[in-house]
Amino acid sequence: MASEQIRANGSNHKSLRSIMAAPGVKGKRVTSISKDGLTNLIQSIISKKQEQKEPFYVLDLGMVVSLMEKWNRSLPNVRPFYAVKCNPEPALLGTLAALGAGFDCASRAEIEAVLALGVSPDRIVYANPCKAESHIKYAASVGVNLTTFDSLDEIEKIRRWHPTCALLLRLKAPDDSGARCPLGPKYGALPEEVTPLLQACHAAHLTVAGISFHVGSGASHSGAYHGAIEAAKAAFDTGTKLGMPRMRILNVGGGFTMDSKFDDAAITINQALETYFANEPGLIVISEPGRFFAESAFTLAVNIIGKRVRGNLREYWINDGIYGSMNCLLYDHATVTATPLAWLSNRTNPTCRGTKTYPSTVFGPTCDALDTVLTGHQLPELQVNDWLVFPNMGAYTASAGSNFNGFKTSAISIQLACSNVS
Ligand SMILES: *Cc1c(COP(=O)(O)O)cnc(C)c1O
Repeated sequence: MASEQIRANGSNHKSLRSIMAAPGVKGKRVTSISKDGLTNLIQSIISKKQEQKEPFYVLDLGMVVSLMEKWNRSLPNVRPFYAVKCNPEPALLGTLAALGAGFDCASRAEIEAVLALGVSPDRIVYANPCKAESHIKYAASVGVNLTTFDSLDEIEKIRRWHPTCALLLRLKAPDDSGARCPLGPKYGALPEEVTPLLQACHAAHLTVAGISFHVGSGASHSGAYHGAIEAAKAAFDTGTKLGMPRMRILNVGGGFTMDSKFDDAAITINQALETYFANEPGLIVISEPGRFFAESAFTLAVNIIGKRVRGNLREYWINDGIYGSMNCLLYDHATVTATPLAWLSNRTNPTCRGTKTYPSTVFGPTCDALDTVLTGHQLPELQVNDWLVFPNMGAYTASAGSNFNGFKTSAISIQLACSNVS
């Protein structure tokens, strides 16, 4: 059984055991690896079962455990509801469920995916401010009773199809300018819209349970959370002035990255909660991190399927690209990096340490010139059938890839690993 391959110590033992038994993980092979054993694992996958040389992901469940520990240390009073759209891989969802997370779903299919793991509907926030009527009816039928809104038309739809649903008013974050993908142009009530929206809910006999916002995906400055929490407090008070029952939920959304900016964001959020919400005893604070849990947990290995030499320039074709996992270059404004795995041309030193490099271009497999993954990237001299490894490929990658030109993103396999969590 898969769980017997895992060795862990102390407090992690329990969480690892529950992960191995989690839906989406149970019954699948999970390879235990050391902290830097990822390259070895990728090499062994390539050598054992990669005659087809198809691209594949490795999902490190130990990384997900570490990230959850980091989250709980830094934001102990903020419960994460993982944003499914970021990466809906069932093993990731099952792992997060076993670690106690809730889920942010934006569509009927995302709700179905989470419920299929045995997660109860009260651990779901239906965090799409504009929902199709048929999806609202579905949410009502399965008991998902918490959703967001930011318009009068949405209030009317919810009154009609799911009147017992508790609502979170989504505010436009006052400052999402530093985000990689700002969401303010599309979602969130403006300050002057708060009163009429709350009044409309009151008149429709709907329960406004709290306030939510999103400071933009890949938020770069933590001050964005401060301003948004201040605005949320003002909206709480507006509700009270209008004679509505006191709100009890504050949803601080997503935007978290797993680098040092996370620590800044956590400090800012904790301080702002202290400043604005210290006098709200029963307050429940939730969040919707996507990128934070998904990005660094996935590593992508791709095969070099073509090569052309033009003077000093090396050009390579790989079997995943802009229409597949690397759509993040376009939609998520991401940057990606690759390290060589010269499985064919340099077996004794496959990572090519200390080898001469050349300015290289890396193209994806489709016949569109837009399908260019890297330019001006320094790589050693590689051959057709060598590999490239792309780290940190879990966020907004496979989830938004297409099947264009017959290259199926959805068919990319995912191997499960578990690094030793310390
Ligand atoms: C996309 C999205 C998230 C996740 O955002 P991250 O930046 O990946 O953390 C959370 N909430 C909502 C409403 C979203 O649309």
